[in-house]
Amino acid sequence: MLSQNSHNDCKEITKSECIFCESTNLLLLYSGLFHPYNKIHGPFDFYKCNNCGSGITLEPPDELKIKELYKSFDRGMIPSVRNLRDKYPLSKWFLQCINRAIKGAEKEYQKNSEFVWIDIGAGSGELATLMSEKFPLAKGWAIDFHEQPDFIKAFPNLNWVTINLNNEAFNDSIPESAADLVFSITVLEHVLHPGIFLKNALELLKKGGRLYITVPDFGSIPSKIMGSKWPYFIPGEHLYIPSRKGMEILLDRICGQTFKKDQFKIEVKKTILPYPINYFLDYFNMGILTKILPKKWAPNIPTGMMEALISISPTDNVT
Ligand SMILES: [Zn+2]
Repeated sequence: MLSQNSHNDCKEITKSECIFCESTNLLLLYSGLFHPYNKIHGPFDFYKCNNCGSGITLEPPDELKIKELYKSFDRGMIPSVRNLRDKYPLSKWFLQCINRAIKGAEKEYQKNSEFVWIDIGAGSGELATLMSEKFPLAKGWAIDFHEQPDFIKAFPNLNWVTINLNNEAFNDSIPESAADLVFSITVLEHVLHPGIFLKNALELLKKGGRLYITVPDFGSIPSKIMGSKWPYFIPGEHLYIPSRKGMEILLDRICGQTFKKDQFKIEVKKTILPYPINYFLDYFNMGILTKILPKKWAPNIPTGMMEALISISPTDNVT
């Protein structure tokens, strides 16, 4: 049964540890939850870490249950969400991700630049196809759990690799291991082992490379206000939702295991993904308003998302 409590209105217990900051000070927020679409996927208990404020599913589903969940979806998503994405493409959002990933980089990313990029958790390929069009001479790899979608064939500079992103060394299966840019757009919250996932993503970078991540922020104001009604709160699917503090701690730990000290820079901050207004209205069953509002209008409405940019030093100069 879904509890409607806000995040602060719960009894305190101690169980296991936070996957982000490793604290054992956890607070049970909701118990016995089932997935909102696949109603036999569950039950799950969901905790908040009292140290870093991240959200954690304990115990998470096993791999078989996760496979069954995604099998019941439409191209990796709850069908109603997939339908919204088809109706109101999130191109502005993905373009923003690309611009943020390359902004301020030492390397110049021009239309004719030759470089390598990888999109981990490429979904329906929205970001991957934009990258392919924007940088026709760059070589791109789109990675995800599911089989190669047909549209990939239309992009000669884009390759697809089907990989289980919960595998311990999934990056071994990617033929490219020295990427300039790696993207992970709202994927981290889905995986069983966020730390292992990040390590794999970081190891794909070459010197001077960048990893750009977006992930829901459990410590955000929309998350706190909406509680279990927050659209990114999806029991059994969004398993681990970091706070910004939790994300910083995890990134610092995994970067420290992967690179020499002072060879990496981590920036974690709040971000707003520009969803088309009609996407919002349809999501909240106010579709009638879509007839009077401009179709392409994508106002900056905060939904509780964060972005993380990890930049690897172009040289080996360790101080
Ligand atoms: Zn924590």
